[in-house]
Amino acid sequence: MQKADIFNLETSIDSLPRVGLRGVRDFAKLGISTAKDLLFHFPFRHEDFSRVVPAANLKIGEKASVKVQVLLIANKRTPQKRRLITEAIFRDKSGSLKAIWFNQPYIPRLLRRGNWVYLSGTLEESYFGLHMINPIFERADSDKETVHAGRLIPIYHTRGSLTPRTIRSLVAKILHLAKSLPDWLPTELIERHNFPKLEEAIREMHFPKTFSTLTRARQRLAYNELFQAGLTALQARRQLDQTPAPAIPFQEESTKAFVETLPFTLTDDQRKAAWQILQDMERPRPMNRLLEGEVGSGKTVVAGIAILNAALSEFQTAYLAPTEILATQHAKTLAEILKGFPISIALLTGSTYVLNGQSEKRGVVEEAVREGKVNLIIGTHALIQKKTKFKKVGLVIVDEQHRFGVEQRGKLRGKGAAKDEVPHLLSMTATPIPRTLALTVYGDLDCSLLRELPKGRKPIITKLIKPKDRERAYEHIHQEIKKGHQGFVICPIIIESDKLGVKAATQEHEELSKKIFPNLKVGLLHGKMKADEKNRIMTEFRDAEIDLLVATAVVEVGIDVPNATVMIIEAAERFGLAQLHQFRGRIGRGQAPATCFLFTDNETAETVARLDFFTHHQDGFALAEEDLKLRGPGEFVGTAQSGFPKFRVASFHDRKLVELARREAEEFYEDFSKFSTPEDISLD
Ligand code: ADP
Ligand code: MG
Repeated sequence: MQKADIFNLETSIDSLPRVGLRGVRDFAKLGISTAKDLLFHFPFRHEDFSRVVPAANLKIGEKASVKVQVLLIANKRTPQKRRLITEAIFRDKSGSLKAIWFNQPYIPRLLRRGNWVYLSGTLEESYFGLHMINPIFERADSDKETVHAGRLIPIYHTRGSLTPRTIRSLVAKILHLAKSLPDWLPTELIERHNFPKLEEAIREMHFPKTFSTLTRARQRLAYNELFQAGLTALQARRQLDQTPAPAIPFQEESTKAFVETLPFTLTDDQRKAAWQILQDMERPRPMNRLLEGEVGSGKTVVAGIAILNAALSEFQTAYLAPTEILATQHAKTLAEILKGFPISIALLTGSTYVLNGQSEKRGVVEEAVREGKVNLIIGTHALIQKKTKFKKVGLVIVDEQHRFGVEQRGKLRGKGAAKDEVPHLLSMTATPIPRTLALTVYGDLDCSLLRELPKGRKPIITKLIKPKDRERAYEHIHQEIKKGHQGFVICPIIIESDKLGVKAATQEHEELSKKIFPNLKVGLLHGKMKADEKNRIMTEFRDAEIDLLVATAVVEVGIDVPNATVMIIEAAERFGLAQLHQFRGRIGRGQAPATCFLFTDNETAETVARLDFFTHHQDGFALAEEDLKLRGPGEFVGTAQSGFPKFRVASFHDRKLVELARREAEEFYEDFSKFSTPEDISLD
């Protein structure tokens, strides 16, 4: 009788054999609480031990498996270090083989004299002679397919008490449940692509017959995920297309007048993006547009054009920024560029309440917003709290939108103008999202791109600095500051307990201000500071009262101080390429040449190659692609609150599959939407 029959997909993990309290806790850390979760906990790689050879044919240094019989097995202690080892001698027809395990005294109970076993490992020669050390083993007495040895062996992420071996055993016990998963992918598509069945694909993901069947399985599951993401995006888009929004007419004359007041000419990309946005806003359907632009490409002024048009039609704009520093900066910048127009601006963050440049009581600002006396409301998360009431929001702008979850965006939308109407949404990001990623993840968004930088920007010279050349970089900073410029020193979080990098930055500040640059004004900025203190420091930096700003990642996005021409990034290896690019984007925003120094003590080939890539590339898109390749989308985005779907199998690099799944999702969407909701078709 097969005991496994009592399980189903919803069986809780603690009902599986030999999963105790610790096991449950450790599985929880992996996000696994049911049999189904475990089924979708795919190995991150497979160890190829599929080659089974006669013992006599094993070669030193080669991975292989043997099927052998136990002759002798016993635990003992090594003479010198007193380490506990298990020694065993095996044989097959061709000859004999020795194996040694360390610290696994239970093995002699599992493998007894006369048993047949598979051993998978590498033949080695050492002090103990010729043998396999710690080979993976599995009894081979029955005809059952093996799980641990003599095959492509799945290697799983583990936690605490869990070992790959425990996970393999458990997965093998519940694998048959895969046949009860609904396979919602249309048969036509399965046939068209000659995909394996869902059940088979899941089996192959864990225990593949060959690497090529594994690849097919992976494609099948990746396709499922991408196809589903496509349908979800199409669904979201359809919903928007059925939702009313205020039609905001394009005010051509005022817009032209505004553009003429700017101290610069708009780039062609800026013009085009503004035009697309204004056209969207004219329609009585909610705009859902992403303005994607290289760091420093000038997104704020494009937003300014949209704000102006909304205000001229008496609609409020809610402008959501990821940090207080940025909210404050945007309020200043927008007040400056819009000063020729009758637009009143409120700044509303957790601790700062400003109305048209004047600090006010919270109640005063909120009332002005509620009564529609304010056209533009800039703030952080505080804006989306229930308490904040608007009069008539026609446009919502979310800066650095990848930092906000879908849910938060939704909340803000709910503060719409008239009943039922949903405001237009403009999301802006400087994190260049590779095209394939955008297509999948933001499939329901329209995209405008600012690729070109304003004229006159010079590339930022980027140098990877060896520890011994530190002095030279400091000397360069001296020179720049003597010329009247300013600089940044970015510090990462070095120790785990230093969650916000406060300690790292504080120490660095101490060192730089006392020892290295005693004659300069060195400021400190980190996330733990109170909002008004942060604002004070930022204002001082803007006004050039601070020469050198030591900061944590809080300066990552958006900060615009064109006089800053030099930056040091400490322990640069700790940041992803996209993030480094964001930092670097803080300098070189003016006309003067700028230099970015990367410091690292980590000289492994991998780190050096990665940082070297960074020194040679200025194009955020190229860097983002590389980052995505090296670190995967989770890391790339940086926060869990990203709104990116979590794919288990699909990868954004597989551009062909991404595009195929998207196209076919469109093709099938009509049919699907007739009889299914996205919940029905969810993969897991
Ligand atoms: P980001 O796209 O990173 O948000 P900002 O909107 O902060 O960039 O703009 C960066 C800087 O470039 C600002 O100082 C802004 O005034 C300036 N800028 C914007 N557009 C242009 C332009 N067309 N020509 C010259 N400078 C510009
Ligand atoms: Mg910006």
